[in-house]
Amino acid sequence: MTETVDYTGMWTDLGINLPAHCALLNAIPKMYADAYLTQDARPEGMKYFDFVLSEIHGLRIQELVDHKLAGGKVVGTFCLYVPEEIIRALGGVAVGLCAGAEWGYNEVERVLPRNTCALIKSFMGFKMDRVCPYVESADLIVGETTCDGKKKAYELFSEMAPMHVMELPQMKRPEDRTLWRSEIDRLVTRLEELTGNKLTVEGLRNAIREVNGKRRALQRLNAARAASPAPISGKDALLAVQVAFYDDVPRFTQMVNAIADELEARVRDGVGVASADAPRILVTGSPMAIPNWKVHDIVEKAGGVVVAEEMCTGSRYYDSLVDEDAPTVEGMLDDIASKYLGVNCACFTPNTARTDDILEMAKTYRADGILHYALQFCTPYQIEAHTVERAAKDAGIPVLRVDTDYSTEDAGQLSTRVEAFLELLRAVRV
Ligand code: SF4
Ligand code: SF4
Repeated sequence: MTETVDYTGMWTDLGINLPAHCALLNAIPKMYADAYLTQDARPEGMKYFDFVLSEIHGLRIQELVDHKLAGGKVVGTFCLYVPEEIIRALGGVAVGLCAGAEWGYNEVERVLPRNTCALIKSFMGFKMDRVCPYVESADLIVGETTCDGKKKAYELFSEMAPMHVMELPQMKRPEDRTLWRSEIDRLVTRLEELTGNKLTVEGLRNAIREVNGKRRALQRLNAARAASPAPISGKDALLAVQVAFYDDVPRFTQMVNAIADELEARVRDGVGVASADAPRILVTGSPMAIPNWKVHDIVEKAGGVVVAEEMCTGSRYYDSLVDEDAPTVEGMLDDIASKYLGVNCACFTPNTARTDDILEMAKTYRADGILHYALQFCTPYQIEAHTVERAAKDAGIPVLRVDTDYSTEDAGQLSTRVEAFLELLRAVRV
């Protein structure tokens, strides 16, 4: 039996608002149990993630605190564009901070318009209410100028926490690449000052290899989902990517490779989590941060199975790797700049590569339909939904557009729409 550890002292030292934090900690296990522990035929390896989630504000935070006590730094990020390889190469630990739950909205709506996207309201709310030990552990938060909402919210956020903002161009022309490359240099300088360390060829190469290893493990896990029946639920696969943003890198890689071994064996044996005729759904759109499992949960409880995610908590995170062979720090930073600028966020114009990826993935994962998910008031993804829908329809793939937030208010209505969509997919197949 594992002993329960009392982390109250650690949370107090971090300045956490204990009563509010207690309410949050009471809410997450219930949401998790309802979405995750009710599933049949889960891969054994997912027990690791049950443990990670049970210790989400405990053991992992203790590890971060120990790292800081040993002289290391913790760097928080909100976006896929912040290169974790550089943070790691300088002895820092990178943690993804996007918050996926409604929190502190009363306070947030005093400073942000009500019609701001849920993700921005959530990260502001977690900070204003001091309920997130990851944010409170961070020595520096690195933001980026992706959408206007984030850009402006960071101005307010920087009054509450030390911040560095990277300027991300919104096009991918050679001159944009030059700007982005100089922003990478500016980040290196800021992180070298923060950590007191200097980037070395060996340090950067090791970090690139380790982070590539993590992405490769996720590629293996996700490749298995192309099989029918699907060997793992979409919810579980989504959770793996969500955890990739803050778990210890070598440990995570090892655990995900173990799950991938199990899934590959399941595929050989024809073992699945849903019947072979369950409608297969590709989900694309805005990122889904923990504990945002709503759409996957609704699809899978309605009898469908999510087989792929084209999103930042999905393929955009693990699909491409950084070249490992450049002989100099400058060369490796060039490769890092290229890899990151390759991400197809809807903040880019034009962004046709995202649509191409979606259609390619629909083929690879044998999706019967596409669910386009956008957070309400997330203009880039809400507008791009039209382009995605048009391209998918031209390719003969039915699309369901869902605009939602983190509340459960629309769950009933969403379930009805998803059930009707799955019915349509079954009918089209016959
Ligand atoms: S959707 Fe765009 S802004 Fe959001 S995390 Fe992804 S890359 Fe960053
Ligand atoms: S979900 Fe959309 S609006 Fe919200 S931060 Fe991301 S890109 Fe911006």
